Amino acid sequence: MIPNNYHELNYSKIATYLFCPFLYKMKYIEGKREGLVAVTSLGVSIHRTLEEYHTYSNNPEDLLVYYNRCFLGAGYFNAAEQMEFYLKGKKIIEDYAKREQYRESEILGCEKEFIFEHQGWKFRGKIDRFEKLPDGSYHVIDYKTDARISDDFDVHKSLQLALYSIGVRRAWGKNQGKASIYFVALNKIFSIPFEDVNDDIILEKYIEIGNKLEGTDFPPCTRSCAQCLMRMRCPHSIHPERHIKFKKL
Ligand code: SF4
Repeated sequence: MIPNNYHELNYSKIATYLFCPFLYKMKYIEGKREGLVAVTSLGVSIHRTLEEYHTYSNNPEDLLVYYNRCFLGAGYFNAAEQMEFYLKGKKIIEDYAKREQYRESEILGCEKEFIFEHQGWKFRGKIDRFEKLPDGSYHVIDYKTDARISDDFDVHKSLQLALYSIGVRRAWGKNQGKASIYFVALNKIFSIPFEDVNDDIILEKYIEIGNKLEGTDFPPCTRSCAQCLMRMRCPHSIHPERHIKFKKL
């Protein structure tokens, strides 16, 4: 049992702070929501589809039915944009269904949560897909729906997979396996073995940032404004659109 007064750390908090400390303040301290846009809305639809499919069916012929049921209409500028993204998602799901016919793993759970404590902190994570491979080892998967992989992406530097690898070992006692980021739109998967993760180094890094989250200093990181979903509402935004004045009609 983890004491109630332990403060919680998870990957989303850490990633948000690293992206921009001021964004962290707006989201996690002031409770402001980013809202959905086309790309994030489709991401939610795909995640929901795969969760429902792996939980209730695992028959690839059902995948499109789940997609149609889980597709979220919110976040689109207009009906044309909604249709454009619906079709993009449909293609992702159809390709996923083809690959499903050759999957040999056993799905053990989706959106599966781990929790463990370390040095007075509570660590929590939610895993998109957890499975057992034919050799008896375990596989943790995080889906990404991005249409491209950024040039500086390096799976070995992923704080998310590192935390998931530690969580699966510490909370569930599964020591053999790997953690992966699966770019479902691109059919690319990048993995690290659990044993490549140094618990002490990773948890120390999380706690170092965790201590900053407990402080009062949340400087804006304007380098990130162009990618930030709060760029139209944030007082520190340097994104040009934020400063366009609307003409009175
Ligand atoms: S708009 Fe820029 S400064 Fe404001 S929260 Fe986003 S990244 Fe930070």
